[in-house]
Amino acid sequence: MTNENRNQYDMKSFENLKNDCKKCFGFCCVALYFTTSDGFPTNKEAGKPCMYLQHDFSCVIHDSLIDKGLKGCTVYDCFGAGQKVAQITYNGQDWRKFPESASQMFEVFSIMRQLHEMLWYLSEAILKVTDSVSHDDLESLLIETEGLTCLSASHLIELGTASHRAKVNSLLQKTSELIQTKFPKDQKKSFNRKKTIAGRLDLIGVDLRKFNLVGVDLRGAFLIAADLRQSDLKGTNLIGADLRDTDIRGANLTESLFITQSQVNAAKGDASTMLPIRLDYPKAWIK
Ligand code: SF4
Repeated sequence: MTNENRNQYDMKSFENLKNDCKKCFGFCCVALYFTTSDGFPTNKEAGKPCMYLQHDFSCVIHDSLIDKGLKGCTVYDCFGAGQKVAQITYNGQDWRKFPESASQMFEVFSIMRQLHEMLWYLSEAILKVTDSVSHDDLESLLIETEGLTCLSASHLIELGTASHRAKVNSLLQKTSELIQTKFPKDQKKSFNRKKTIAGRLDLIGVDLRKFNLVGVDLRGAFLIAADLRQSDLKGTNLIGADLRDTDIRGANLTESLFITQSQVNAAKGDASTMLPIRLDYPKAWIK
């Protein structure tokens, strides 16, 4: 695939996996439980609308979320699950007009978000693998996952995503190991920290600029407030890593593995941060 074709494929395959709040009924503002300590405007129970959600499902304070420091709202990403549930699963019926279906809709939204997250990772893996066997395995799992997202609400609720997620995780892990071999490590400066919290690497607040992180597995690592300025993160596996306030100014993430919009929104970057083409620059970075 040429770089130009790859970029086109990249944009196209992720189009439906990006939030389109105008086609949604504010599911994240109602279905989720949230608290002010997590950067949301209020403490509220799951199923109760946020006090700022308007009748047309827009947010009163949407344009000032960054200024108000409401990180919970600015970081959240549903991977396009919101508009899928609103427009496909429920064919444009909203929870205000059909309150008897509201709790079912919120449950379906949570399942759909998990499936769309899997679609995001599978789409990225397809883009990165070069051998045809892995490509075919990934593509067939992607098609199967897409099929699940088209099930009816009651079938989605019966589904239970655990076994499908396990299948996706196992293939993604195999694929990332394959991809990471393309990025040879520099032994002299290689990264070998072992400290963990609940089995996840603890890199909270660590200055990582002196380490060679190319091709390193940082799956699920706590990178909260770590310093990654100017770091080369080619082939670095960031799936599930906690990037809250991680300084990635000037870092190169164009070929990082499994980075999402939500992680980027949570990090501290600027116009000098290099992102993959499928991810948007957060407004807070380019103010
Ligand atoms: S659930 Fe997704 S699409 Fe809907 S309002 Fe929230 S972020 Fe937007």
